[in-house]
Amino acid sequence: MRFSQLLIPTLKEDPAEAEVISHKLLLRAGFIRKLTSGTYTYLPLGLATIRKVENIVREEMNRAGAQEILMPMVQPASLWEESGRWQEYGKELLRFKDRNQRDSCLGPTHEEVITDVVRTNVHSYKQLPLNLYQIQTKYRDEARPRFGLMRGREFIMKDAYSFDATDKGAEESYHRMDLAYHRIFERCGLRFRAVEADSGAIGGSFSHEFMVLADTGEDTIAICNNCQYAANMEKASCVVASSSDAAPLELERIETPGKRKVNAVCEFLDITPAQLVKTLIYMVKDEPVAVLLRGDHEVEEVKLANVLGVSDEDIRMADDKEVFDATGTPSGYLGPIGLAIKTIADLEVEAMVNFAVGANEKNFHVLNCNMGRDFSPSQTGDVRKVTAGDKCKLCGGTLELTKGIEVGHIFKLGTKYSTALQATFPDDHSHETPFVMGCYGIGVSRVVAAAIEQNHDKDGIIFPAPIAPVQVLILNLDLKDEGITSAAQTIYKKLQEKGIEVILDDRDERPGVKFKDADLIGIPFRVTVGKSFSKDGIIEIRSRADGNVSTITFDDCVEEIIKNVQNSMNL
Ligand code: ATP
Ligand code: MG
Repeated sequence: MRFSQLLIPTLKEDPAEAEVISHKLLLRAGFIRKLTSGTYTYLPLGLATIRKVENIVREEMNRAGAQEILMPMVQPASLWEESGRWQEYGKELLRFKDRNQRDSCLGPTHEEVITDVVRTNVHSYKQLPLNLYQIQTKYRDEARPRFGLMRGREFIMKDAYSFDATDKGAEESYHRMDLAYHRIFERCGLRFRAVEADSGAIGGSFSHEFMVLADTGEDTIAICNNCQYAANMEKASCVVASSSDAAPLELERIETPGKRKVNAVCEFLDITPAQLVKTLIYMVKDEPVAVLLRGDHEVEEVKLANVLGVSDEDIRMADDKEVFDATGTPSGYLGPIGLAIKTIADLEVEAMVNFAVGANEKNFHVLNCNMGRDFSPSQTGDVRKVTAGDKCKLCGGTLELTKGIEVGHIFKLGTKYSTALQATFPDDHSHETPFVMGCYGIGVSRVVAAAIEQNHDKDGIIFPAPIAPVQVLILNLDLKDEGITSAAQTIYKKLQEKGIEVILDDRDERPGVKFKDADLIGIPFRVTVGKSFSKDGIIEIRSRADGNVSTITFDDCVEEIIKNVQNSMNL
């Protein structure tokens, strides 16, 4: 491909509309153009990159035994009514009527359609396990489409669905996908972690999100500095501090005038927040519940909801009036002693000795409180957010908090959709049994954005070679010099003959412009044919990733370029 003929509309300035680096660079490097909020046209280089990711995904899905299909994007409401999601799915579901006034929607995901395909075509356990996938444009009318390809309204997703006869089978299908996903993101050349995510009602460790590590990620994740443990904050847990063997001291009521906040109380009492237990009131479906937590810890609401056995949408912090109505005490002076409402104590509280708490009386706290002796919570549970420095529960290593971008999600669905849509097969005793399902998504277009968030510098994109639009960019630095021009052409042709993907920059532009664009679009290897060629017959090969330059004679350069490309491909 010749640069002069390709549509690569690079921009000199950062476009004002772009907030994050991948969005800026994708626009500046001429990979995408916006049509309207959250929808983009992929220009030639953008599409080439998307195709690279798709092909890796496709190869690894096929290797794992999944079969590619393609489902319709427009879906009938009737199917969504069967699953109950026509009502449940919020405004992200774009609904409309067709010419016959039939309610329809654009597919944001395909559980309903795939379950329909399987219920009408699979009638025996002998056809199982079955894993079907597609790579397709999804539509979600996101509340806040932003960050370019990171959160679009229209985006490309690979979605796969597995069907098994038994729970055990479904778990094996899940593990096969887990392995395939590891291979996919490794081959893409990305630094990532598979993190345990909250699997809600299914329980167990059957939901993992694949996170590309990048400072600009939207999600905070906890990772161990010593082993592979990684979890998102909604799920992360750690070793509970071992309890102190100090002897319990006598309760001591102490006046703390106007001291309501943890820090103010601790300063006044000359203790650390780790020696205080705070009492927070939550409304759980309109019932007040007290949550006891070490002073320096924070509640993780999803974990709290799981301990309470409710959805996280059913809980919220109580306001001051609700606190007073429930306890008769203004917030800031609450404590567990004598508290008459349901109380959940965090596991860490159980391990503490002689801690300070509110006295359930304005302007008073109590010292030397001990769980068991002075109060008994209704329930204990792990309800706090882990913090940096906590100990890993798998290996005792130290947890760090870092940022990640979710590029994939694997999830054991169980029989939610197969039961609702009556997708069943006869078991050994001819009882109709619902298929056990799993679903597995990868945001193909988000992978491209995440790769750029993780791999860039001030000059532009630094593509991992396996997902770069092409691997080599040849710069002809002087079109008027016949020797240079013919050498550049020869290298270009030879590389093409060897199956290397290459662009020849044959534009009538100054060298400075060509160098800048080369850095911006991030092609892994830049081959420069310029003055050193006319003078000494020397070609320069520069790696975009580490900036290393090798100079080599014209005769040897094709072989050297091919070697470099092959070494960078993570095959
Ligand atoms: P998020 O929490 O980011 O909204 P999600 O939980 O809605 O993601 P899934 O339904 O699991 O995502 O979709 C599978 C994958 O599709 C995600 O892991 C992500 O990579 C990608 N994805 C989801 N929403 C978008 C979007 N609006 N734009 C681009 N990619 C997306
Ligand atoms: Mg979403």
